[in-house]
Amino acid sequence: MLAQRYPLIWKKKKFYIKIFCSIPNIATGILIKAGKSLFVVDPGDGILRDLNNEIGTDQILNISDLFITHGHHDHIGGVWSLLTYMRVMNKKTPLSIHYPKGCVEIESIHNAFKKVYAKTLPYEIILKEIKNHKKYNSSNIAVRPFPVIHKEYLHDGKTTRQVPALGYKFTFDGLNICYGGDTAYCEDLVKQAKDSDLAIIEAGHDDETPDEMHMTLKEAKSIGESAKEYFLVHVPE
Ligand SMILES: [Zn+2]
Ligand SMILES: [Zn+2]
Repeated sequence: MLAQRYPLIWKKKKFYIKIFCSIPNIATGILIKAGKSLFVVDPGDGILRDLNNEIGTDQILNISDLFITHGHHDHIGGVWSLLTYMRVMNKKTPLSIHYPKGCVEIESIHNAFKKVYAKTLPYEIILKEIKNHKKYNSSNIAVRPFPVIHKEYLHDGKTTRQVPALGYKFTFDGLNICYGGDTAYCEDLVKQAKDSDLAIIEAGHDDETPDEMHMTLKEAKSIGESAKEYFLVHVPE
């Protein structure tokens, strides 16, 4: 399978997305600009470096929301450094962190962060645990979280369990971007990706036998092609 080349960039009117990278087991990092608002999706390892190159300190401090699809390290590895950088650089405006209900990784990072820095934190962190799949607004965009199928192996290497995991559809200025996060083929993603202006679809499975963790290239393409434009991401290198 061919590895994707990064970054991937898409822009329509004042809606912009840059995928710095999305490499299975290594890191994901996505920046969204909607007018003057800035959002980060799946801040994996390296996100601070990438944001610093892309938008610089002042703009990093203006980021209003982090959207987390699930707690695997390749999607959240950069959260601690981002939160700490915002503290050191004296962010004043609140930061909301959206994450699926049951994502203990985000809650644990937040708890540890508060424990260390509560007395010296210049900005407010608002945890937004997503408990249902209703559409809501945050800052100037509409957000539709949707459930996806993403399992992981337990210690025995055989038993699997569903990870708390979401995809997100973001709408701004009549345009929408659908990002499935890590997911196996699932109807909710099929529904949300269809006719979206941009679909970002993972093809993380490394052979052509479907499983309940990632999608095969064929599955991912079939969903991507139902959107107006699409990117395949999370392709094994
Ligand atoms: Zn992943
Ligand atoms: Zn994952």
